[in-house]
Amino acid sequence: MRIILMGPPGAGKGTQADLLVHELGIPHISTGDMFRKALKEGTPLGLEAKRYMDSGGLVPDDVTIGIVKERLDMADAANGFLLDGFPRTVPQADALAQTLQELGVALDVVLDVVVDRDALLARLTGRRVCRACGATYHLVFNPSLQGDKCQSCGGELYQRDDDTAATAENRLDVYNKQTAPLVDYYKKKGLLLEVDGGKPVDEVTRDILKALGREKR
Ligand code: ADP
Ligand code: ADP
Ligand code: ZN
Repeated sequence: MRIILMGPPGAGKGTQADLLVHELGIPHISTGDMFRKALKEGTPLGLEAKRYMDSGGLVPDDVTIGIVKERLDMADAANGFLLDGFPRTVPQADALAQTLQELGVALDVVLDVVVDRDALLARLTGRRVCRACGATYHLVFNPSLQGDKCQSCGGELYQRDDDTAATAENRLDVYNKQTAPLVDYYKKKGLLLEVDGGKPVDEVTRDILKALGREKR
């Protein structure tokens, strides 16, 4: 399956993606994760991306489109993928359409995860991420059983620089301006499927699998 997971920052895209790719056997392609990995490795891409990420703005389209094209060309994406956090602008969506056309494949569905703004802010400011394996937790909604250590690998949990209240607000505004138009874009193509992301994690996963015609194993 070729799936786009859309939704504002904090909607639970990363959380759901990790659970879904396990069920569906396709790679999880997150542009945010790719930028953070590049930054951790100190590559030029990472340093350039950081300039935009710190303020909550978007990394320029040409840079972002370039890394996604490269990623989609890799062998493991040939039979499907779950895109998380891409596309975020109309030019990115157009570039994706062109790339898929060149590859001779098509999207199956665009899942739009809907959550209200107050809940998004609470989720973003309480998010904690494992420095070692990238697992995502929440201080209140999804705490690690190991306190301030990752329950799956023992790694240190940290707060992303862009998950402060002020930057989170800005990211939600950027989403409304630059990314929300893609809801109509994909609705017009008949690909959009809305998901209520305000429910508990396992219920959202179940709803998505049901909508995809897959019951949870
Ligand atoms: P996104 O990738 O869309 O920004 P994440 O998956 O990182 O979102 O989730 C944002 C925060 O909200 C994390 O701290 C995560 O643990 C928490 N979270 C995710 N899904 C839910 C949910 N259904 N209910 C409550 N909290 C959630
Ligand atoms: P969230 O989990 O809050 O949705 P991401 O991890 O997806 O955030 O993205 C973090 C930051 O990385 C964004 O605020 C933006 O600066 C950059 N970024 C990620 N994906 C894209 C994209 N498709 N286009 C431009 N910038 C992006
Ligand atoms: Zn970990």
